[in-house]
Amino acid sequence: MKELWLEVALQLDDDEVVEAVSEVLARFTPRPLAYEYTHLRADERNHLVDLGPVTVRAYIPLGSEDDAPALQRRIQEALHYLRAIRPFPHETYRILEPEDWAEAWKQAYHPIPIGERLVVVPAWLENPYPDRVAVVLEPGMAFGTGMHPSTRLALRAAERYAAQSPRVLDIGTGSGILAIAALKLGAERAVGVDIEPLAIEVARENARRNQVADRLTLLPGSLDVLENAPFSEGHLVFANILAPILEDLFAQGLAEHVLPQGILVLSGILAEQAPRVARAAREAGLEEVHRWQEGEWVALVYRRPSKRS
Ligand code: SAH
Repeated sequence: MKELWLEVALQLDDDEVVEAVSEVLARFTPRPLAYEYTHLRADERNHLVDLGPVTVRAYIPLGSEDDAPALQRRIQEALHYLRAIRPFPHETYRILEPEDWAEAWKQAYHPIPIGERLVVVPAWLENPYPDRVAVVLEPGMAFGTGMHPSTRLALRAAERYAAQSPRVLDIGTGSGILAIAALKLGAERAVGVDIEPLAIEVARENARRNQVADRLTLLPGSLDVLENAPFSEGHLVFANILAPILEDLFAQGLAEHVLPQGILVLSGILAEQAPRVARAAREAGLEEVHRWQEGEWVALVYRRPSKRS
């Protein structure tokens, strides 16, 4: 029997809606979702500067063509609930023959050069940038595929600091992308934690795929589980999580997990939230060294001062 696919596509221009819609669509298919940025444009240094609205596509295997209408109704219903909270454009549906699916699939994924030295490569593709350090990922989550501005901003810090940072902590590791990139850029060991156990599984798989599994410890949980890790303080600490969570983490002692002279990279911050996060960081005794922005997303980079004697 030939394998048919139902493609669901919709164009969205709000990161939070992208995430919410992705969560719904992912329930219907074991396949990774595809994200296509309409204005994907890099500057002369290959930094992605303009992404534009994103088209999210889900590919759902169909037992037969007759299954499509019922499936379509279930998806419409699930999206209807989301729209009640926050309106977004309607989705389109297409039934794909196996050949069309193979083609759509290939086009949906491509290696993404990031910053000066990195490239994120979907697991089944060759790396067309042999001079760049490749992070090989199985995509499938909105976060941690390298496409999100907050991830790219954090990777910029990885490029700058990983080689001089033997120990790395990654709080909210997701796909593991930041920890894996840091290890491939010269860090010796990393610990990643995430409150989502599924993320830990995905990160573990990605660590193995990038041959860094023996140097990356992954634990389900948050700051509290670091006591079970080989180390609980880093020369380089990432936290790419939403701003209110970053503020909570400061209240839980985030700054103490950064070694003296170490670097803390905070991403996932919307521009208007930056002052509150910056205040929490200052109160924790950290010194700001960079503030990078891409669209409405900001990353704040801090150094923990040496202990006074
Ligand atoms: N580090 C990846 C993923 C960022 S998404 C990247 O840069 O792309 C943020 C992740 O933080 C999610 O996987 C989420 O499950 C996790 N998270 C949310 N709150 C957390 C908390 N309090 N402690 C640890 N992880 C948390």
